[in-house]
Amino acid sequence: MIFESISKTEHEEVVFCHNKDAGLKAIIAIHNTVLGPALGGTRMWNYASEQDALNDVLRLSRGMTYKAAVSGLNLGGGKAVIWGDPGKDKSEALFRAFGRFVNSLNGRYITAEDVGIDVNDMEYVYRETEFVTGVHQVHGGSGDPSPFTAFGTLQGLMSALQVKFGNEDVGKYSYAVQGVGHVGMEFVKLLHERGAKIFVTDINKDAVQRAVDDYGCEAVSLDEIYDVDAEVYSPTALGGTVNEATLQRLKCKIICGAANNQLASNEIGDEVQRRGILYAPDYAVNAGGLMNVSLEIDGYNRERAMRMLRTIYFNLGRIFEISARDGIPTYMAADRMAEERITAIGKLRLPHLGQHAPRFHGRRAG
Ligand code: NAD
Repeated sequence: MIFESISKTEHEEVVFCHNKDAGLKAIIAIHNTVLGPALGGTRMWNYASEQDALNDVLRLSRGMTYKAAVSGLNLGGGKAVIWGDPGKDKSEALFRAFGRFVNSLNGRYITAEDVGIDVNDMEYVYRETEFVTGVHQVHGGSGDPSPFTAFGTLQGLMSALQVKFGNEDVGKYSYAVQGVGHVGMEFVKLLHERGAKIFVTDINKDAVQRAVDDYGCEAVSLDEIYDVDAEVYSPTALGGTVNEATLQRLKCKIICGAANNQLASNEIGDEVQRRGILYAPDYAVNAGGLMNVSLEIDGYNRERAMRMLRTIYFNLGRIFEISARDGIPTYMAADRMAEERITAIGKLRLPHLGQHAPRFHGRRAG
């Protein structure tokens, strides 16, 4: 079953990590390192089964390959999962044991935080390996990625506005923002600063109230967000919200937000295109967080990060061009752009071999 699942994918390496004393059960999946070391977070989740954990890490690591490739980063795709309850099973020993496994890969895989893991957990991983990003700022880490993800989303939005309306005047348009969490609230702030009309919803009523009070948003119910008259729909909470039921209701001209896996299926992506709605592919739009942590490898620099985020505007522009050139939906154009880059660089026959491990300037495993 295990090998059967792996053989259906194109992964380079899948590592099962086990340490009885620390109670560690983890899987590290390296999907592709043609462009560089595989960077992707570690998720801690109480999976129902081993198979679920494996499926998740295979899917997520493949996604990282595409995100890095489309974003022009010299990084491959990888991800790790720790099987356990983040509320109960965390310990220094667990994360240090995990860190040793990461270290044993000699830089082919670089980890970071993901769902269920925070910066304090990463501190323990960092004691065992330098191949970790998202550590405390005191060690040269880059801090919370959310504001960077939000600013990157704004760049993607401007690119979409330019293609759809011929101008980038964010403030001229109205927005339906679903989810005002870490990224959503920051995104709403950026929209408000530019004078936009914003509708918001969230299951967290306090967050909605803050968006209303601080950024002049109009609150709507969880379900109403699909019906509001807004030119842009911004999914910034959950995946799969562009589906058969919601697409019939959406009045928007553009879909652009930070959530992962916004389209419920490829068929929905085709239908979005047929309806003349411009979809800004999620993994290209929300790459700001990845770009930001990637800079920790060469020594973090905030100014450089902000300049790098601007490239999201051009990446999206290129995706829209490929979509027009090849007559394909934008989600497919993003995949094509990523695959074309990996193929072209792969032909150079210089795969990342591990001995070219990244230099973590100014940082040492503590
Ligand atoms: P978060 O948990 O801080 O915020 C999510 C918000 O969505 C919360 O306020 C939550 O209450 C709300 N929410 C949950 N279910 C909802 C529903 N049914 N309707 C409306 N609101 C709902 O998470 P985040 O870090 O802001 O990330 C938001 C999205 O962006 C996620 O899909 C995440 O995977 C993606 N993303 C985040 C980053 C980052 O840097 N944080 C980077 C890339 C992608």
